[in-house]
Amino acid sequence: MTTGQIATLVGPATLELQEYDVPEPGPGAVVLRVRRANVCGTDVHQWHYESLLLRDAGLGHEFVGEVVALGEGVTTDFAGQPVAVGDRVVPVYYLTCHRCPPCLRSEFNLCQNGLAEWKIKPEIPPHFRSGFATHYYVFPGQYFYKVPDEVDDATVAGANCGLAQMLFVIDQVGIEPGETLVVLGAGGLGLYAAAVAHERGARVIAVDGVQERLELAERFGANETISLADHPEPADRVARVQELTDGVGADMVLEVTGVPASFVEAIDLARVNGRIASVGNLNAEASVTMTPGILTRKSVHVQGVLRYHPWYLQKAIRFLARRQHLHPFEAFTDRSYPLAEVTDALKAGESRSVARVAIVP
Ligand SMILES: [Zn+2]
Ligand SMILES: [Zn+2]
Repeated sequence: MTTGQIATLVGPATLELQEYDVPEPGPGAVVLRVRRANVCGTDVHQWHYESLLLRDAGLGHEFVGEVVALGEGVTTDFAGQPVAVGDRVVPVYYLTCHRCPPCLRSEFNLCQNGLAEWKIKPEIPPHFRSGFATHYYVFPGQYFYKVPDEVDDATVAGANCGLAQMLFVIDQVGIEPGETLVVLGAGGLGLYAAAVAHERGARVIAVDGVQERLELAERFGANETISLADHPEPADRVARVQELTDGVGADMVLEVTGVPASFVEAIDLARVNGRIASVGNLNAEASVTMTPGILTRKSVHVQGVLRYHPWYLQKAIRFLARRQHLHPFEAFTDRSYPLAEVTDALKAGESRSVARVAIVP
């Protein structure tokens, strides 16, 4: 039996590479070899012990793998395409139980048991439940999709988190051709959102503090950028968006910074009766002071969006196949590290100097 390694959290900002036997897949399951995994902002939070649910879990959820073994009965992916050993696939990183109250309302993105396997300690078989590892175990019923040959690993590695989620957010909140979208935060999520909104015919204004990210945002379809260096106060940014929208404000504002103050800023940036998507703020304790009366007076629509419906991953792969020549998706992962240097990869991811760093086991 071959063995594999998995980066496991054993304390705050403390990872251990643990070695386990690579299991045979049970009926309906698939075993992958991880080809490339991205460091996402959520991984950095998890690394710092900020996710109570995932304290014992392995790290990594954005990745592309290669099929090494198919369990009994698995002949296709979740779009009905035939799969075989050697095919590259991306899995949805959470589960949909089809039995909990949100699943029964077809709110699959909110499945209460979505992390039921991921949160388990890697020492318990089948061990490989996260992406910073040599292998990954796709559970029966866990959605996965084949990656077409023309989409390379660097391009597709972020599809199962950022891109699928941004496609879902924009469908949930809605953007019309000609409308203005302000994206607060031009990291991975913000860049994907710019690309999706650009395809939908929206005008995109990207806001960030890192010049390198704003330059990338333009290559991902942003029509205008606003730098925090030039517009340090929220009021300056609101004034700039007012200027760019003939005093109207943004039709939609997408918050992907994870900074609580951005939520308040989003309300100020939106037009009257505009839409706000709250996505980046996930911390259950970080707070901010705001005036609820502004929400009422502006009649803005606030929508929080967690994860995505699992079939959006297939839409994400198709989006990449269709649009990869228009935007530098491969620039998402401009630095890569071997699995043994996973801590350095997380530190580089935390520094926010690049959109994403990758681990290539
Ligand atoms: Zn992610
Ligand atoms: Zn469920």
